Amino acid sequence: MKVVFLGVGEACDERYPNVSIWLRNHAEGADRSILLECGFTVPPLYWRHVTDPNELDAVWISHFHGDHCFGVPAMLLRFWEMGRTRPLTVIGREGIESVIVSGMELAFPKFMSRFEYPLEFVEAAAGRDLHVVGHDWSFAENGHGQPDLAVKITDGNSSLFYSGDGAATPESLNLARGCGLVIHESYMLEEVTAGHATVRQNIEFAGKAGAGILALVHVKRDERRKRSEEILQLAASVRDIRVSLPEPGDMVEL
Ligand SMILES: [Zn+2]
Ligand SMILES: [Zn+2]
Repeated sequence: MKVVFLGVGEACDERYPNVSIWLRNHAEGADRSILLECGFTVPPLYWRHVTDPNELDAVWISHFHGDHCFGVPAMLLRFWEMGRTRPLTVIGREGIESVIVSGMELAFPKFMSRFEYPLEFVEAAAGRDLHVVGHDWSFAENGHGQPDLAVKITDGNSSLFYSGDGAATPESLNLARGCGLVIHESYMLEEVTAGHATVRQNIEFAGKAGAGILALVHVKRDERRKRSEEILQLAASVRDIRVSLPEPGDMVEL
């Protein structure tokens, strides 16, 4: 499983685009491509890598904040402009279809009826296991201001956990157990903030989960500007887990 960090930032960072993780894998006899999150700064990052409008199989949206879902209209529009024909699966919590359809109508009124590719919406919920685009998916509620689902995706050999936004919960920790890669929102280094996680908490979380790699994403812009060195020093001091603060374009192979 190839994991590319297209974007790693929070909502309003002028230096780091919105967090978005692109998974590519060969599963059940086919190449699979899945985008985790599609915030307003994400579509150009994807299009720098891809020229085939049919390449993407599925988009996962963890919660309905703009830095996680407001890029979907531009993505869908460009698929249509480039002549996409394959169905696109959009997975997200209850309400995903109405959020995406109304977002599309607001951004590009009446264009959706002209699409020549179907959109297939799949509703995710904590405790509801799914099998979508050749992978097993499971979910847990995370602790964020806007209801957010953490997700575990596995191909039977490798598994990854991605928190979406927010602080860990007992349920999200259970979900993360056994995942080789934990990608966690890390808003602050150590200052506890309601609805967000810290780097220190996430190192403990990844240790409990037994992860080999922890990727810290969605760091608050001022925190990343002022405290990157401290974060990197702390990361380097951790034994048994490879802790990374990815830059846009970085890749991990599981
Ligand atoms: Zn966010
Ligand atoms: Zn959020």
